[in-house]
Amino acid sequence: MKQRTLSLFNTLSRRVEPVVPLVDGQLSLYTCGPTVYNYAHIGNLRTFLFQDLLKRTFLGAGLRVRHCMNITDVEDKIIRDSQGGLPPDATNEARHAAMAALTERFTAIFLEDLATLRVLPANFLPRATAYIPQMIRLIQDLEAKGLAYAREGSVYYRISGLPQYGCLAHLDREGMQVGASVDADEYERDSVTDFVLWKSAKPGEPWWDSPWGQGRPGWHIECSAMGMELLGERMDIHSGGVDLIFPHHENEIAQSEGCLGHPWVNHWVHGEFLLVEGQKMSKSLGNFFTLRDLIAKGVDPIALRYAIQSNHYRKVLNFSFEGLRAAENSLKRIRAFRKRMEGEGQSGSGPWKEALDPFSRLEQAREAFWAAMADDLNTPEALAAIFTLISDLNAQDDHTALTREERDAVLAFLEETNGIFQAWPREEASLDVEVEALIEARRAAKAGKNWAEADRVRDQLKAMGIILEDRKDGTVGWRKG
Ligand code: AMP
Ligand code: ZN
Repeated sequence: MKQRTLSLFNTLSRRVEPVVPLVDGQLSLYTCGPTVYNYAHIGNLRTFLFQDLLKRTFLGAGLRVRHCMNITDVEDKIIRDSQGGLPPDATNEARHAAMAALTERFTAIFLEDLATLRVLPANFLPRATAYIPQMIRLIQDLEAKGLAYAREGSVYYRISGLPQYGCLAHLDREGMQVGASVDADEYERDSVTDFVLWKSAKPGEPWWDSPWGQGRPGWHIECSAMGMELLGERMDIHSGGVDLIFPHHENEIAQSEGCLGHPWVNHWVHGEFLLVEGQKMSKSLGNFFTLRDLIAKGVDPIALRYAIQSNHYRKVLNFSFEGLRAAENSLKRIRAFRKRMEGEGQSGSGPWKEALDPFSRLEQAREAFWAAMADDLNTPEALAAIFTLISDLNAQDDHTALTREERDAVLAFLEETNGIFQAWPREEASLDVEVEALIEARRAAKAGKNWAEADRVRDQLKAMGIILEDRKDGTVGWRKG
């Protein structure tokens, strides 16, 4: 397959730059995963959908992709929400079990949401709690290099020790509060201080043993440790939503580069926020939606996928139900065209002075599509190339029917672009993908002992007329009843 070069906006340089993989033909990609203490909202899902688009575009451009997405399963909010029901004298074991019960439940739900949205699973899906020894080693290494110091059982990063601190968020080093330190994982730009790497355990919190006493990792160290362990000392792309630029990603750079002594990530790529009807989502405003809320309102998840991906990832997206309807209409148009091309041409109204050569018209559309995608994932322009092709070929087909060969070439292009957008599949293929995704979700729910969720998925499959067959080898087959 022909390999294409793609360019992306790099937050580090603030320029659109070509992505030149470290290993020819292969892209390493790290995306910060969810903090699993509740349902993901559609703002979170916008970021994961943008990253799926990015990944599928590289796959479509002929590269292999090694993708790591972590699951943050130990963090302040997780502890807050999982420990409430326990007595003050609960054992550490009981505290860990309560934390794991919450995070396993929401990890399964999260993976199911991704499957519903046809997001490709990552190659590596590490849980932070499985990498505590790596985190401790990394902190010890920073301590040995003079970049970290312990105080009352916690360990902090000394930002004045790293000349490039602030390079990603483009911070003014003058304004940094050298020597002051914070324990919180999240803080604003105007309080740039030494940040926490390891937190000493407070009463009522689960802990691990460490050289500094009982405690747990800070949020930022998790991604540095897992990223370096699974993708190596350098990677091509690291991505998240814009809110992660500071402090999370800035601190990841400080930790990893402080330890490695050389640049860690070539391209930092950030997706803009999703707003709802012009406002930040919040429970009190009643504009806070999960994917399940929308499905319950009758929204087709693939229309949501398209509504999000048809907008440029670096522009704030204003979610609205009107926008969803527009997405549904666009999809109807592409799907109807696909059906028309799958069928045989009718004899049309005859020769036409504006007649064009379908093959060269198609080639032109393909090049316009890829030129737009290669230019910082310009999806609005890429989709425009598809829509003008549809108008032109529909008009042509009305006059002189396209031949079978021409129709098949058009279908191949629709298949190629559907490989990225996942919104205009062949009808049978579409059912396959959805059923397989639901079966996988049911398996994950069962593995997490989340029986209610597993039953809910089984009922959903039943309502679709799908009969499941548990096979002897433990896999699950299915047929349409
Ligand atoms: P979290 O689970 O809070 O760590 O967030 C998961 C991902 O969602 C991160 O990459 C965030 O940057 C992203 N995110 C959070 N809120 C929004 C939003 N309203 N729009 C787009 N992305 C968001
Ligand atoms: Zn991260």
